[in-house]
Amino acid sequence: MNYIIFDLEWNQSYNGHPKGNAPAFEIIEVGAVKVDEKGNEIGRFHRYVAPSIYKRVHYKIKEVTGIDNKLLREEGEQFKTVYRDFISFCGSDYRFCTWGDMDLTELQNNCDYYRIRPGFGFPLFFYDLQKLFSLQYQDGRERINLKGAAELLGIESDENTHFHSAYVDALYTAEVFRHIDMDAFGRYVSVDYHVLPKTDDDEIYLNFGTYTKFISRPFADREGAMNDRIVTGCACCVCGRPLRKKIRWFSTNGKQYYSLCYCPDHGFVKGKIRVKKAPGGRVFIVKTQKLTDEEGAQSIRDKKNSAKK
Ligand SMILES: [Zn+2]
Repeated sequence: MNYIIFDLEWNQSYNGHPKGNAPAFEIIEVGAVKVDEKGNEIGRFHRYVAPSIYKRVHYKIKEVTGIDNKLLREEGEQFKTVYRDFISFCGSDYRFCTWGDMDLTELQNNCDYYRIRPGFGFPLFFYDLQKLFSLQYQDGRERINLKGAAELLGIESDENTHFHSAYVDALYTAEVFRHIDMDAFGRYVSVDYHVLPKTDDDEIYLNFGTYTKFISRPFADREGAMNDRIVTGCACCVCGRPLRKKIRWFSTNGKQYYSLCYCPDHGFVKGKIRVKKAPGGRVFIVKTQKLTDEEGAQSIRDKKNSAKK
C-alpha cells in the first residue's frame, strides 16, 4: 500500500456567504507526494484549479497562499480534469495522509458540487498526520501547525519557504511523515465522515486497544439517536464484555454526552458521545469508550454533578 500525502488550498466567497448550493470553499491548488511502504518517494503531483464558483481570489487567501488571479488564469485547469488526474496519480492501493482532517472533506464537497463520484471505498480510512505527530511527539491532544512540526523535527526551511502553498505543504508533510513511527502509530487511523453508514450493518467499529470508536448511521434527530440501544450500549475495550453503567449517559450541552462503566477485570471505562450534523438536518453519533482510572472516573462524576446544577 502506498501513502498519498496531499494538501489543498482553497478560495472562498468575497462577501463571506457561500453561493447557492456551492461549497463554502473552492479548491484552487492540489499538491501531493506518493510514498511507498518503505517511505521512499515515488511520485509528486502539483496542479492549479481555475475557479468557477468564486472567480476572484480573496485577498486573505492571496496573502496566505501567494496564489493570485493571474496565476490561476495562466495555470488553472478545470476541477474535473485535475481531480481525474489526481485519482489516476493515486493508483489503486493507497491511503490518504493529510495534516489535520479538513482536506478530505473539502475535496469531497467540491466533488459533490461537480457531481463527480469520488471513487473511494467505504469506510474511508486516512491518516491525520497532525494527530499522529501529536501522539508521537506531543501529548496526543495538542495540535501544532505544519511549520511548527517541521521546526521541532529540525527539518530545514528558510524565509523563502512558502508554507500554505499546497505543493510546499505536501512536501513538508511528507518530510514529517518520514519521522512518524508507523509500526507504533499506524494503528491510529482516522475515519472520514463525509460518507456515513447507510444502515446499522454499515456502522463502523474500531478498536485501538485502550479505546474504541463507533460511528453510527444518521438518525432523524438527537432523541432518536439517544434511544438507540447500539448507540447507548457500553462494552469493555479489552474483553468486549457488555457493561452496566455506573453513570448513565448525561449531557452538559446537548452535543456531548458522557457515561461511566466498570469492567470487573479491566476497571473503569468512560464513554463519550458526540452528536454531529448529517445532511438533511439529521444527526449521527461518534462514540468513544476509553479505559480510565479512578481519577478519570472522578472527572465524570464531577461533570455529572455540575450538569445537575
Ligand atoms: Zn474487560
